[in-house]
Amino acid sequence: MTTIALPSYEDATSRYETVIGLETHVELGTQTKMFCGCKTDFGAEPNTQVCPVCLALPGALPAMNGAAIEATIRIGLALNCDIAEWCRMARKNYFYPDMPKNFQTSQYDEPLCVDGHVDVVVDGKEYRIGIERVHIEEDTGKTLHVGGATGRIHGATESLVDYNRAGIPLVEIVTKPVPGLGELAPEVAKAYVAELRDIIRSLGVSDVRMEQGSLRCDVNTSLNKPGEEWGTRTETKNVNSLRSVERAVRSEVIRQAGVLDGGGKITQETRHFHEDRGDTSPGRSKETATDYRYFPEPDLVPIAPDPAWVAQLKSELPEKPSTKRARLREEWGISELDMQSVANAGAVELIEETIAAGASPAGARKWWMGELARRANELGIELSAAGATPAQVAALQKLVDEGKLNDKLARTVLEGVVAGEGDPAEVMAARGLEVVNDTGALTAAVDEAIAANPDIADKIRDGKVAAAGALVGAVMKTTRGQADAKTVRELILARLGVS
Ligand code: ADP
Ligand code: MG
Ligand code: ZN
Repeated sequence: MTTIALPSYEDATSRYETVIGLETHVELGTQTKMFCGCKTDFGAEPNTQVCPVCLALPGALPAMNGAAIEATIRIGLALNCDIAEWCRMARKNYFYPDMPKNFQTSQYDEPLCVDGHVDVVVDGKEYRIGIERVHIEEDTGKTLHVGGATGRIHGATESLVDYNRAGIPLVEIVTKPVPGLGELAPEVAKAYVAELRDIIRSLGVSDVRMEQGSLRCDVNTSLNKPGEEWGTRTETKNVNSLRSVERAVRSEVIRQAGVLDGGGKITQETRHFHEDRGDTSPGRSKETATDYRYFPEPDLVPIAPDPAWVAQLKSELPEKPSTKRARLREEWGISELDMQSVANAGAVELIEETIAAGASPAGARKWWMGELARRANELGIELSAAGATPAQVAALQKLVDEGKLNDKLARTVLEGVVAGEGDPAEVMAARGLEVVNDTGALTAAVDEAIAANPDIADKIRDGKVAAAGALVGAVMKTTRGQADAKTVRELILARLGVS
């Protein structure tokens, strides 16, 4: 193989136009699977959430999950789609060990929702991403390759199949091709997935967690010379984070430009994104629709949602995340960038509820975006699972506002709350953590510090007030951090006759 010199991204986009298209799979958070009553809990023991239907035992018959249809329609409506009045499921035939039926029940030429759009803002400019279709299908099981170093099939000694995920309802959202983004294509792709995630999260139909795979993205990219037809696309899979969406487009643009520069042709194929290297490698060459021998699913009745019901679902949609963000940004008095990090951390609702429970916007934001976000990051968990409720965070901030806790003590109390020791007041009582405001006790500690550090005390008497910090530190030490630093400082200066 000859090595192709790769152009820089800027060079590539100065000579080629990029077209992108995104296919996003969202695992719905329904209680049960798409065509049977099996549970859908994440992380259960392998093969404990299975039955004859999702294992495809002979004679088993599927039945449609109404909650999944409703969720899909709500997603379609939130993406400004038209909802089909009548449509069918289709069989997509292929063999894969984690798909016991040898076909996936999906939708083909009769999707439930069509022709919508999502608006995203990048660098202050709005871009409209067309939605081709939103359809419902089922997830496959999961294959585990063991015995090797990498967890891939290559080098593994055996493969295990877990069918717990088989049959979990999956919604596929396919964009129309998006041309004309110039060098911003990677950023717009990322902004689109982020907006899609926020919209779906606001509907409460999925936890949309890329790292757990409940939101998965395939990124299509092609290049063409200005004035020429769109090029052949590649489809990059395995894109597991927002950052990777951006990197996947960028690396494909560079790679394809290199191939085209060298007079080569782009093959229509799936490619795998490598998180560690930030580039893609070829997967299988892409099947065409005819390879799948699609045909309408005979075991399921058509889907025919009552237009009046659809209209009602539409009228009950929640406020659009972008509208809500703009409103809250105003109310909380924070910058667009800060609001973006709040949204990215999944903290919008948590902060909202904390404020509703009595905290100030700044107080609420501080804990969720500080200690709790750090903890969630470290443990790789959702912020809402970090161990504190909005009510507890509001109570903690109240104790700080009342001067019963200083910042350092409050952090210790929060540790107790997160460890399951109870509400902030309970942790405070149980651990004996309270700001010492008893002036008698404080004065004794101050006098002790002065007596132990006569040189420093002299400096302060001579007017070097900055030296007081050392004495404050000493008092904080004897009171185990439970004194209010400002009060201590005032006391020290008063005792030394400086003010
Ligand atoms: P498949 O199942 O073969 O992946 P889909 O219709 O599900 O096909 O998705 C194809 C995706 O590729 C869509 O998002 C579409 O907008 C996008 N796409 C189509 N043509 C191009 C192109 N020339 N360049 C980039 N993306 C494209
Ligand atoms: Mg597809
Ligand atoms: Zn089942």
